[in-house]
Amino acid sequence: MAMNKPPMLTAEQALEHLLSHAKPVSETQEVKTQEALGRVLANDVCSLVDVPPLDNTSMDGYAVRTADTQSSGSILKIAQRIPAGSIGTELKPGTAARIFTGAPIPPGADAVVMQEDCVAVEGSTDQVQVNIAPTLGQWIRRRGEDLTVGKVALSVGTFLRPQELGVAASSGLTHLSVKRRVKVAAFFTGDELALPGEPLKPGGIYNSNRDTLLACLKSLGCETTDLGIVPDRLEATRQALRSASRDHDLIITSGGVSVGEEDHIKPAVTAEGRLDLWQIAIKPGKPLAFGAVRKSDKTSDGEAWFIGLPGNPVSSFVTFLLFVRPFILKLQGREAKPFQPYLMRADFDWQKADRRNEFLRVKMNPQGGLDLFPNQSSGVLTSASWGDGLVDCPPGQPFKKGDLVKYIPFDALLH
Ligand code: AMP
Ligand code: MG
Repeated sequence: MAMNKPPMLTAEQALEHLLSHAKPVSETQEVKTQEALGRVLANDVCSLVDVPPLDNTSMDGYAVRTADTQSSGSILKIAQRIPAGSIGTELKPGTAARIFTGAPIPPGADAVVMQEDCVAVEGSTDQVQVNIAPTLGQWIRRRGEDLTVGKVALSVGTFLRPQELGVAASSGLTHLSVKRRVKVAAFFTGDELALPGEPLKPGGIYNSNRDTLLACLKSLGCETTDLGIVPDRLEATRQALRSASRDHDLIITSGGVSVGEEDHIKPAVTAEGRLDLWQIAIKPGKPLAFGAVRKSDKTSDGEAWFIGLPGNPVSSFVTFLLFVRPFILKLQGREAKPFQPYLMRADFDWQKADRRNEFLRVKMNPQGGLDLFPNQSSGVLTSASWGDGLVDCPPGQPFKKGDLVKYIPFDALLH
């Protein structure tokens, strides 16, 4: 059978092409702040309050006037006690306020002396001796030093991690306006595939891509539909594409993207929509398919995007991180620029540089360098679970132990 060789693209070209098509979803939703983890902000969030709302102390100790404590050993009368949550009164000259972390600085005070720098005056219950003269403003957290009322605390397009939820809460917001989740359907091609729990027939292999890819999608905050294993038949693949297109923005598949007789993704997607099949000059993960499937349900028009990943478990994981993730980020309305690798020291030689841009599975060692997983086969998924990330090796450039290399941690690509 004569086969047309798909065009060879660099990773940058492939990504640029993908991103030129993706358009952010427009629908938004209001969700409770504490339920907004993993969502994407649909508008700027402005603080309703100054944070902190008043000047307050960051230490347990004594609020003082520096004019009274120019030299060490000054003795002051303890005139008031201010626990967190209460307000003191004007601090008169010659007096100190016993004060506790988070309590507002009373008017007139201009520094806090931590309790460790003070001693009680012998024979007196209401006097304190300040052993170390404080500097002006010492241990005072200023009103609004974190956030100021009306100022943007979080900007549109922000992916909400735990710390962003905290910032929204400290701004006084009960609810946030977020983009609706990107809806992704996935199916996995291959007659050899079985699900864990099923007996493995001769020639069979468990479907690992399902769990890897669905978990990747979830960690990016997508709504996912698992359409299961699809046999290597054209009609079955077309049928799966039709159901996947319903009510989804994007269809992800694994396997069947080469141009062999058992690879049905290309003809199936072409029949149900349109498709570009690419050879990307990367290793692992050469073949990748990108296109769109017509929505077949009567109620909607338009298309669902289609990205077909290679079947080998490491290839599908790596191509997901490098290509599908930025595409989804753009659909979500997030900034989709590629991750800028860190420069790290390789603690291994890499002499057999490939013609393709290679992504090696590596782990950080306690000496601040990177170790290489010995088996870099695209079928060996334990390389990725052993590893912390990838070394991005430019084509045809070997390196030596001790050289600086481009390192991309997996963690950076899983949210
Ligand atoms: P393919 O891209 O369909 O030619 O598959 C390439 C290799 O990946 C073959 O060895 C398949 O058995 C394997 N493979 C494909 N899909 C999966 C999957 N979902 N889980 C584990 N291995 C897979
Ligand atoms: Mg296959």
